[in-house]
Order: sequence, then structure tokens, then C-alpha cells
Amino acid sequence: MLSNEAFVEKVCCELRQHNGDGDVCIYCADFMNFKLVNYNYGIERGTKLLNSVVEYVHNIPEVVCCERIFSDQFVFVVVMPAKRTDAQILSSYERFAKAFLSEMSDQYPACNLKFCCGIARVADENISEAIDLANMARMEAKKTGAKTAILFTEEKIKMLAERQEREKEIMRALAEKRFIFYLQPKVNVNTGRIVGAEALARRMDEDGRTISPDNFIPILEENGSIIDLDFLIYELVCKNLQSRIKEGLQCVPVSVNLSRLHTWNLRTASRIHQIAQKYKIPPKLLEFELTEGVILNEFKNAKQLMNKLRGYGYSVSIDDYGSGYNSIKILRELDFDVLKLDRSFLSDDMEIKRRNTAIIEAIEQISEKLDFYLICEGAERADQCQFLKELGCQYIQGYYFSKPVPLEEFYNIYKQNQGTFPIPFNGTI
Ligand code: C2E
Ligand code: CA
Ligand code: CA
Repeated sequence: MLSNEAFVEKVCCELRQHNGDGDVCIYCADFMNFKLVNYNYGIERGTKLLNSVVEYVHNIPEVVCCERIFSDQFVFVVVMPAKRTDAQILSSYERFAKAFLSEMSDQYPACNLKFCCGIARVADENISEAIDLANMARMEAKKTGAKTAILFTEEKIKMLAERQEREKEIMRALAEKRFIFYLQPKVNVNTGRIVGAEALARRMDEDGRTISPDNFIPILEENGSIIDLDFLIYELVCKNLQSRIKEGLQCVPVSVNLSRLHTWNLRTASRIHQIAQKYKIPPKLLEFELTEGVILNEFKNAKQLMNKLRGYGYSVSIDDYGSGYNSIKILRELDFDVLKLDRSFLSDDMEIKRRNTAIIEAIEQISEKLDFYLICEGAERADQCQFLKELGCQYIQGYYFSKPVPLEEFYNIYKQNQGTFPIPFNGTI
């Protein structure tokens, strides 16, 4: 195997000798789950398979160079007629990969052999840069489970650069604590009373404008810093509750979102508790939301976290309930305080609505027997509130009552209406 520098040198040399017209592309590829080949067939046959790749690729006419650079990773260089389109490049790769894999699947039937491949065009004769890009594309293909190779086009590179820029901006905002939270009321649908609120993070840009979570949550989840954001929001919530308590103002229980990564840390619950104690917040004023998806993916850890939080006296809610495929497991095996029905329960499709009616009624009965509260998210219209009310879902969080609003606005609404919204809907749906 060659070092990176030696490989780049070799490619430059080959290309000089090749001395032809055409576009140069770099391909970086590896096997999906190569470990399985070694496991099923032994190291020797694994190595044989890797050698077969090099041999096969070498025999493809447009390939000028092919090396195994590391483990089961290959880089090869192709000089193709100029102006070949992206689609042509991908389908040509596809053809060769398919032929090779179908030949090999006869020899290694116990493994579902699959390549992950990234491709990048060489621009300005910069081989190293193209290798980096092709490698990034390969990792992207692996991460997304792409069915075919990924070709890094100008457009994709631009998108990636923008994403990196945004990540830098978000990380700067996090370091400078330029995040706030909005509150969205949770309302008792029978009385109109605000019974609590959810804290929802907002980023402040340098000009003081607020930016919604879809701009920053996925990036923070990906790079792991969501933990810091969650704790920042949680601490801000505690600070605000403390100052209201000190001033003798009314407070409502506030729920805070916890992302997946918290479930992996055994100290999450005690850290949460320490912060609440630091601000002297009674546990009944705090609730923690874990999404159904997180719970089902991290079942054992999530269960532990939920039990610990409840042990300290905090409420725990299941967010986005009913959006996944194994929602009953949650009812059967977990203790929690609040079930937040996903907004998909409010579909306007008549057939789905008929089924949702039956499901919500049944969950409402379960909630009485298993002793949890039921709240539905995303009600935007009076008829949706009426629908939920008639089915016995007692609480609603949705634009119908209020969007998430800045703190001051939330407590103004609360004060003006004495904590109560008018309930104009009644009668039939
Ligand atoms: P979520 O936890 O499911 O929060 C509810 C989202 O639904 C909020 O979006 C809210 O504005 C929106 N929503 C509420 N009622 C309605 C309605 O009637 N119609 C419609 N169309 N939307 C409604 P938002 O504030 O944009 O937050 C999006 C997601 O970002 C949240 O979904 C949550 O998953 C995540 N998020 C927000 N803040 C935090 C945070 O501090 N930590 C973590 N880990 N995630 C957060
Ligand atoms: Ca939530
Ligand atoms: Ca939700």
C-alpha cells in the first residue's frame, strides 16, 4: 500500500505519461461491512477479494491507476472523454460495479457485497484536493446508504462549503451563548387554561434576528454539541423560573427537549437535578421531553434516564408519539407522565381521520388506566381542537392558541387572559 503522498506522485506521473485529452476523475471506494467477508470466509479469502478489485479495475480501459490505499479502501483514477455528463459518469461506474459484484457474489454468497463510492472531477490538476473530495463523497455515500456512487459536483461542493460555514456560525453562536428560548403554551381544551409551556430554542444571529431550530438542530445533533445547547436552554429556563419565583410572579411548568445523546450519558439525570437545585426550582415546574424515535432507538438507556428523572420528581413526556413503528412498546414497558400525540393524528384525510378517531379514543382510555396525561401537538384550527376535545384528549399545544413566542410575550398573554384562552368551539365537529 502506498502513502498518500506517494500515491499522488504516482497519479501525476501516470497522467503525464498518459498525456491525452479528456477529463480526469478520482474514485474512492470501499466495501460496505467488509468485516463480514473476513468473518465469514477468513482473512485470506478477504485479501483475495481485495486483490480481485485491483485486478478488475486495472482492466477497465479508461482507468490509468488503481491502488488499495488503506484497509479495504481503493482509489482509482480514470481519464474519460471530455464533457461526459455527471449522469454518464455515474451510470458507467454503476455498470462496472454491478458486473464485478455479480461475479463476486457467486464466490462470496454469504455476504451481500456492496460498494460505497465517491467520485470527484480533478480541477486545476489538483489531485490531492480531488482525492479529498472523492473521499468525502464516499463517506457521504456510506452515511446516507446511497444506492449508487456519489459524484461531488460543483453544486454539491458549494452546498458542503455553505454547510461548513453555517456550522462555524452556529458553533460561534453557541460559544457566545447567542441562543434564547421561546415558550409555546399547553392549554386545557375544556377550560382554556394554560397549564404549562414548552421551551423551544431559537438562535440569535449577529443582527439580533431569531433563527428557527431546523437551521441548527440537525447540525448540532450531528457534531454532538446538541448536549451543550440543551443544557444552555435548560439553564436559561431555570434562570427565568428562579427570577419569576423571586419576584413573586406566577410560573407555569416548562418542558425542555432532550436529544438522543443525553441517553448515552449515565450522569445526565444527576446533572439536570444539580442545575435545578442550583436555581432552587421545584421539580414539579420542570418536564423533560424525549421523542418516541429516541426512546425506541435507545430503549434501555432512555428507560434508565426516564426513571432517574422521575425519581427526582420531574415529569417526563413522550414527544411525537405515534410517528414511529413500535409505539405500543412504549405504553407497555415505560413509566412516564405525559404522552404527546404527534400532529399526524390531526390528518384531514377522511379515512385516516376515521382511524385516528378510534386510536385516540383508545389511547385516552389507556391514559386513564395507566395514569398519564394526553396532549396533542399541532392543532391549528378550531375544528381540530373540537375533534380532540370530543375524543377526550384534554390538552393541546398548537398554533390555534399560540405559536411559540418570546418569554415576555408569553407571560403577557398569560397575564392578560388570567392564564386562560377563550374557548369558542363547541357543538359538533
Ligand atoms: P418539537 O419538540 O416537536 O416542538 C414542536 C414544534 O412544533 C415547534 O417547532 C413548534 O413551533 C411546532 N408547532 C407547534 N404547534 C404547531 C402547529 O400548530 N402547527 C405547526 N405547523 N407547527 C407547530 P420549532 O420551534 O421550530 O421546533 C422544531 C423542533 O426543534 C422541535 O420539535 C424539537 O425537536 C427541536 N428543538 C427545539 N428546541 C430544542 C432544544 O432546545 N433542544 C432540542 N434537542 N431540540 C429542540
Ligand atoms: Ca418537544
Ligand atoms: Ca413534538
